[in-house]
Amino acid sequence: MEVYECIIVGGGIAGLQAAIQLGRYRHRVLVIDSNSGRSTLCRAYHNLLGWPEGISGEVLRERGRQQAEALDVRFITDEVVAASKQGETFRLIGKTGEVYEAKRILLATGVKDRIPPIPNLIPCLGTSIYVCPDCDGYEVTNKKVIVLGAGKTGANMALTLLYWTRDITYVNHEGEPLSEEIERKLQEQGIVYIYEPIESVLVKQGPLFCGVRLQSGTELSGERGFIAFGNNQVNTDLAKQLGVERLENKHIPTDARTKQTNVPTIWAAGDIGVHSEQVAIAMGEGAQAAIWIHKSIMAEKKKRT
Ligand SMILES: Cc1cc2nc3c(=O)[nH]c(=O)nc-3n(C[C@H](O)[C@H](O)[C@H](O)COP(=O)(O)OP(=O)(O)OC[C@H]3O[C@@H](n4cnc5c(N)ncnc54)[C@H](O)[C@@H]3O)c2cc1C
Repeated sequence: MEVYECIIVGGGIAGLQAAIQLGRYRHRVLVIDSNSGRSTLCRAYHNLLGWPEGISGEVLRERGRQQAEALDVRFITDEVVAASKQGETFRLIGKTGEVYEAKRILLATGVKDRIPPIPNLIPCLGTSIYVCPDCDGYEVTNKKVIVLGAGKTGANMALTLLYWTRDITYVNHEGEPLSEEIERKLQEQGIVYIYEPIESVLVKQGPLFCGVRLQSGTELSGERGFIAFGNNQVNTDLAKQLGVERLENKHIPTDARTKQTNVPTIWAAGDIGVHSEQVAIAMGEGAQAAIWIHKSIMAEKKKRT
């Protein structure tokens, strides 16, 4: 069985940028990707250098993969479900039953958003429904916004969006009712608060968000939506299996300079790390990790000669 110099688990934004960088060093690298990350959901990133009109996650991923494949990086579609280390070699097992081996691992498995199955929501993500105010608060400047959320998480999102707009309705779709204190805060800020499940997102051609229909049949109109349901999942189960340190919130701390974890031959990049979850940051970390993975490969080669 081929033992790769590095296996990248996760072929999203961080994994692809690392793959391109490692491919350009001409190392033997495999990317294993289950093709289901956050970057498959966002139909337009608007805050990236060079793409003022926005670029979709799908397009970035497709171009990134082509760029890495042209550098002889190998790709396999599989989900790694188990990981262990035997001597100096990591052994990864995929859902398909395949076994993969490598001397080094880059974990770039991202975060999974919790999004209830509300009809028409997913196709609007990135174009007219957003998840991250730091990324897309700008898009709702002075617009009529509906926050689709759960409990306190949704209320906090509504309060955060006041920086960009004063026309906000918060629909608490599920979970806990709000405390009196938070309800009062919303009221003081003129945020309309509704505690009722959402039946569907209303769309116009695009598809573009134009409001929500509540379970009671009431329709609310809006120009943009924001979601905040909370309990997103950080995909770091493999890290745990490999003895990689995780914080209480399951994110992985890494060395600021190298992106190395507490396990010397495991690196971590992208949304699983401890920082703002953004594309530019995922790319930067992927590249940074790859540079130090290269140094590690070179050090090993030097030792052998
Ligand atoms: C709707 C939406 C809109 C967003 N808008 C913006 C924006 O406008 N600007 C911005 O900067 N950021 C935005 N983001 C955030 C951005 O998408 C993430 O920061 C970025 O995708 C992180 O890259 P990543 O490589 O860490 O993770 P991902 O892109 O999620 O990639 C992780 C990859 O790992 C794979 N994977 C996971 N577990 C395994 C496993 N066990 N085995 C194999 N493969 C596995 C997944 O299938 C996936 O392909 C948005 C996110 C969402 C959901």
